[in-house]
Amino acid sequence: MKSLPFDIIIVGAGAAGVTAAGRAAGLGASVLLLEKMEKPLRKLRISGKGRGNITNSKPIEEFLQKIHPDGSFLRPAFSLFFNTQLVKFMGSIGVRTVEERGGRIFPASQKAWDVAEALQKWARRMGAEILCNAQVTGIARGENGLFSVTFNQNGAKRTAYSAKLLLATGGLAYPATGSTGDGYSFAKKLGHSLTPVRPSLVPIEVAGFSKFGFDDLQMRNVKVAAAANGKIVDEAFGELTLTKFGVSGPIILRMSRGIVDALQAQREVKLLLDWKPALSKLQLQNRLKRELQGSSISDVGSLLRKLMPAPLIPFFTEQAKLQARAKVCENSERKIVDTLKSCTLQVSGYRPFSEAIITAGGISLSEVDANTMQSKLVPGLYFAGELLDVDADTGGYNLQMAFSTGWLAGGECKM
Ligand SMILES: Cc1cc2nc3c(=O)[nH]c(=O)nc-3n(C[C@H](O)[C@H](O)[C@H](O)COP(=O)(O)OP(=O)(O)OC[C@H]3O[C@@H](n4cnc5c(N)ncnc54)[C@H](O)[C@@H]3O)c2cc1C
Repeated sequence: MKSLPFDIIIVGAGAAGVTAAGRAAGLGASVLLLEKMEKPLRKLRISGKGRGNITNSKPIEEFLQKIHPDGSFLRPAFSLFFNTQLVKFMGSIGVRTVEERGGRIFPASQKAWDVAEALQKWARRMGAEILCNAQVTGIARGENGLFSVTFNQNGAKRTAYSAKLLLATGGLAYPATGSTGDGYSFAKKLGHSLTPVRPSLVPIEVAGFSKFGFDDLQMRNVKVAAAANGKIVDEAFGELTLTKFGVSGPIILRMSRGIVDALQAQREVKLLLDWKPALSKLQLQNRLKRELQGSSISDVGSLLRKLMPAPLIPFFTEQAKLQARAKVCENSERKIVDTLKSCTLQVSGYRPFSEAIITAGGISLSEVDANTMQSKLVPGLYFAGELLDVDADTGGYNLQMAFSTGWLAGGECKM
């Protein structure tokens, strides 16, 4: 590491930091990228269940709607470097991509690891100096206008100086990847404010669920409505997973943002499940009749076995107030149909940051210039990635935000 000041120091070698480093170095800046983990891009490597859903092909207007709380903040970043530019860029560094259902784009190799390796090699090739096992512990601005960045590397305390500083330390989700929220305290010390951070794209806990011992039981084509204080606030249709603590799966993760906020606002949240949304009650009654006609089924449990996976039955009978061993009668048939069309789950909480895919909240957008990613409060200070108060649904949107804001900030940091 050189002793002269760098043009820019970047804290955090995630998707945003590495992209910014390569971009700034490619434009001629001297760049030091500090990463506390043993290698860059730990989170990117595990993203998309290791397959790396790096972006989505949706057009910009649709894309922006997937972003909370205000996608329009990202317009300048996306107008510079959006999904088509990312795919082209990936091709230029040797990562071919493929598009899957819902416009989701993955590396053709199906390995997020390949994206991470290509990205960090590119940044180094551009001239960025990347130091790993280098945990930043303090940031200050000297009277000479330079940032001084103190970090521990392999037990030794070191300091580096720069004209510009980019915080790209990510959020609080999956802290085992290195994202432990350090950037929030650095930003606060430098005068920035935060909107409250909370886990998002996170599994939801349901009261009394642990006794059923669900082991990630996947249920397809389920309709779920979320009600807060008795009012329906969100609805979704798709795949739901029953877990040891409650519910997860694509539709629940998407709804989790609103559920977490409702719980934090002390509202009572219930999930209303329709297990057979494609069938009316009459159609279900007829279905039950068909199952019973000419069969030897006589008890509720055997009838339910025809309608749902066995591990769901104890939960279902409790909801329907039925005994699995009881004889099928008109009353039990009616209760089965009613419960298939409407099951109520009492939400008791949400899983911690360690199980969340993303952090909602972060550096207040009103304090950051969307055209440059520069702080409006501290000249020379920049932000990129999940650290900012932007979060999106699943589908490749979150990584695109990290790449785009990193690309914009890196370009602005050229000298
Ligand atoms: C399990 C999982 C799967 C996901 N899958 C997808 C997906 O398929 N598609 C998608 O779009 N999004 C996905 N996401 C979200 C996406 O990966 C993140 O939003 C994105 O990686 C954030 O990038 P970032 O660069 O802002 O932050 P991060 O990737 O979190 O990088 C921040 C870096 O800063 C480092 N750092 C922190 N503090 C310090 C410090 N004090 N000193 C030095 N270094 C520090 C950290 O070690 C880390 O490497 C997934 C997230 C998770 C958890």
